[in-house]
Amino acid sequence: MTKIILITNDDGIHSSGLAALKSALTPLGRVITVAPDRDNSAISHALTMDRPLRIQQVETDTYCVNGTPTDCVALGLNKILEAKPDLLVSGINLGPNLGDDISYSGTVSAAIEGTMYSIPSMAVSAAGREPYDFARAEKIIRTLSLKVMDYGLPANTLMNINVPNIAHLEGIKVTRQGRRLWKQPVQEIADPRGRTFYWIGGGTPLLDGGRGTDVEAINNNYISVTPIHLDLTNHEGISFFKEDLGIEDLENI
Ligand code: MN
Repeated sequence: MTKIILITNDDGIHSSGLAALKSALTPLGRVITVAPDRDNSAISHALTMDRPLRIQQVETDTYCVNGTPTDCVALGLNKILEAKPDLLVSGINLGPNLGDDISYSGTVSAAIEGTMYSIPSMAVSAAGREPYDFARAEKIIRTLSLKVMDYGLPANTLMNINVPNIAHLEGIKVTRQGRRLWKQPVQEIADPRGRTFYWIGGGTPLLDGGRGTDVEAINNNYISVTPIHLDLTNHEGISFFKEDLGIEDLENI
């Protein structure tokens, strides 16, 4: 049986990373692309609910949508594909998705959406800057995709992959999500008329590469592969809420 693979991204249908992802997966099955018509980076898990969405077929098995990565997955699964795909891959993002940045990521959110539909889902990012060389990432994607299609993934869990955009890699590490804070996350700039405006992004990342984190792996030139769980509950926090805060004992609520 031919494997069906749904791919998307957040950088838009014209991204070189999406083309690389398609060429990586084409040997493994029928690849169907449903991607946003423009850059949606940092759109997170947004769904478009206040305007109509249109699907435009660009070529065979390639569709573009005037919406978010999550819209693309929802339309792909519910309207474009005839059957559930064997795999969903989002990327290759032009830039890393590490630590706290995962919560802003459209790339990772598309994989979250796939995971919610119980489809084995992977997010892939190139950690580095232009020019991107996707050859190594393509090889990794093929290897890991075959594994995931064979073995599946743990329940409610996606695979977040970051591949350093450098010639020499040290290897590959299974990691946990680290922290990635930003120094001066908001830039204050004057426009040509001297008025102040603000631009989010462009600050200096303060990478907290604690042991075993995705950030540490990338800092040390390893590919990072993190199992990301959809359950955001802090299970230890339940007893703190119940016992220390006594929330369930509150009276006169
Ligand atoms: Mn992006």
